[in-house]
Amino acid sequence: MSKQFDVVVIGGGPGGYIAAIRAAQLGFNAACIDEWKNDKGGPAPGGTCTNVGCIPSKALLQSSEHFEHAGHGFADHGISMSDLKIDIAKMIGRKDSVVKQNNDGILYLFKKNKVTFFHGRGSFVAAKDGGYEIKVAGAAEETITAKHVIVATGSNARQLPGAPFDEVNILSNDGALRIPAVPKKLGVIGSGVIGLEMGSVWRRLGAEVTILEALPAFLGAADESVAKEAAKVFKKQGLNIELGVKISSVENAASGVTVKYTDAKGAEQTLAVDKLIVSIGRVANTIGLNPEAVGLKLDERGAVVVDDECKTNLPNVWAIGDVVRGPMLAHKAEEEGVAVAERIAGQHGHVNFNTIPWVIYTSPEIAWVGKTEQALKAEGVAYKAGQFPFLANGRARALGDTTGFVKFLADAKTDEILGVHIIGPMASELISEAVVAMEFKASAEDIARICHAHPSLSEATKEAALAVDKRTLNF
Ligand code: FAD
Repeated sequence: MSKQFDVVVIGGGPGGYIAAIRAAQLGFNAACIDEWKNDKGGPAPGGTCTNVGCIPSKALLQSSEHFEHAGHGFADHGISMSDLKIDIAKMIGRKDSVVKQNNDGILYLFKKNKVTFFHGRGSFVAAKDGGYEIKVAGAAEETITAKHVIVATGSNARQLPGAPFDEVNILSNDGALRIPAVPKKLGVIGSGVIGLEMGSVWRRLGAEVTILEALPAFLGAADESVAKEAAKVFKKQGLNIELGVKISSVENAASGVTVKYTDAKGAEQTLAVDKLIVSIGRVANTIGLNPEAVGLKLDERGAVVVDDECKTNLPNVWAIGDVVRGPMLAHKAEEEGVAVAERIAGQHGHVNFNTIPWVIYTSPEIAWVGKTEQALKAEGVAYKAGQFPFLANGRARALGDTTGFVKFLADAKTDEILGVHIIGPMASELISEAVVAMEFKASAEDIARICHAHPSLSEATKEAALAVDKRTLNF
């Protein structure tokens, strides 16, 4: 007889593994199926995020930032270094061990929470007795049954037509995280989060980096003032970013990659690089899921169609994370996972899409939550803005990292915070205060009246809130 579960989650990324743990916490007999293999063929749960996304990229960003600081940043502190070297194999090895710690941590959490883990590919077989039969194809093959199924199969990197990934010269995020030696010239197609982060890593280590972007505006999703500041800083750092380009062809040869493109002025250009990272977005992944077997509805782009509560067109089948609509972010996937497990338990799981933070882990970091100034203008919302530069923050000066600012946008009448935008040191951490404030519908005045530790970067947040009412104290 096949094993029976209350909840089976297909996919063990941040959406899936968290959903399985929450379901088990709520008393369900829960299983998670994930097919990711480590280099020895063993299980490596955690999905894109843990294996080739959030975690390894931050490990390399950290290593490359240390290298850059040692090369330039330490001199002001009176620390001089000579004969600075980077051992790329060691750096990649450290990144791999950080990934493995996370994989092992998830396997431990499954045990602790009594989630049954299956290593293999999960696919729909049929709807049966009000539930679903799922085939698990791993080292062996078995069929299990589930009352509820949560599809959390994530996404894959989008390929550029005519330039398939070989992960040697033309790299997806996977190959970009394990380049064996610093390329002399690196091309990046796409100036989104992944392109900027990967471009920054290899630039800091010595590559000459050119980023080609099809859109005419840089970081269109960010607040315009932040995007402008970022473009200025990245240019100064040596990242060559070309906007409004149209790629004509990509030629991959043993010696490197040649990209032909038309620039924003309409002139034909050629870029010859040793390696090319293509980061032009990601596509929902349902490869091998066999959605047809049960009639699971996908949209024209291959994403699983869901409503606001992550319900699909099938009873008791849910879908979360990158495989559905919405921002492709690990924390969005996690929140949806928790909410769905709670809805299965008859609770009122909720995800507030208006307070999902966005972070780009470049240097300076960029983070925001809520509306941008251009969006408020377009919507005709009356707002007040307040901005405070890190240059006027004591902790930032002590750190030697004074680039950027914190910007608040608040409703002109009620003073409710509508958006917070940060470019500067530790923006990824600072944004949490704004997320909490917005979740509690705080006003800018609420933040302005809270005692913030001195000296801390968070004082810039308080001062930006004060700036909304033109009452900054230190600027
Ligand atoms: P995934 O993490 O993609 O996991 C899906 C899992 O399902 C995978 O393990 C896959 O092997 C498995 N699977 C698929 N089909 C099947 C099947 N049929 N049977 C069994 N298993 C299956 N987001 C952030 O929030 N912060 C960041 O800093 C960040 N950095 C990123 C950096 C890079 C380079 C990249 C590429 C992405 C980054 N992201 C970041 C995005 C983040 O990784 C994704 O949003 C997140 O992983 C989505 O989680 P998920 O659970 O939906 O899917």
